[in-house]
Order: sequence, then structure tokens, then C-alpha cells
Amino acid sequence: MRKICAWCNRPLSTASEKDERQHQVTHGICVRCAQSLLARYPASLGSFLDRPPAPVLVIEPEPRVFTANEAARLLLGKELPAIEGRGGAGT
Ligand SMILES: [Zn+2]
Repeated sequence: MRKICAWCNRPLSTASEKDERQHQVTHGICVRCAQSLLARYPASLGSFLDRPPAPVLVIEPEPRVFTANEAARLLLGKELPAIEGRGGAGT
């Protein structure tokens, strides 16, 4: 599955030849577009992420959780210290 930025359509990772032949595409946001988008908002990242009613997790490339909005914290039943920096396997 190819991963591309939904804003600029640039690849989010180096795709192998096998990946290039696949027609499935998933979207995310690249660092450049994320910085440009967040620069337009004077509010902090936390208050920006709390605007949508849906749970939002910001995932770093490692992958691990950078932060989570209020809806995600409610869904998981955890506060930020128990979520931030955790890997996909709960590590
Ligand atoms: Zn982009």
C-alpha cells in the first residue's frame, strides 16, 4: 500500500517496486504540510486537536504516539502521560 500526503500528494515513505505496483493508497500528512497547516492556527496544538469531536492520535514515524486529543483520551480512558510516547504495542 502506497502512503501519500493528502495535501501535496508526495510519498510519505520510500515505496518499494512491489508497493508501486499496488493500487491501494492511504493518506496522511507530510511534515512540511503539517507545519504549514499548523502555522495558520494561532492556537496551541492541543486546543487545535480538541476541536474535532472524533478521537485523534498524532503518531510519530517510529511509530509512537506524540499526543492525543480529549476525545481520544476519553475513548482510551487514559490521561496524556499514559498515552504520549507509547508505541503501537502499548510499549
Ligand atoms: Zn504534504
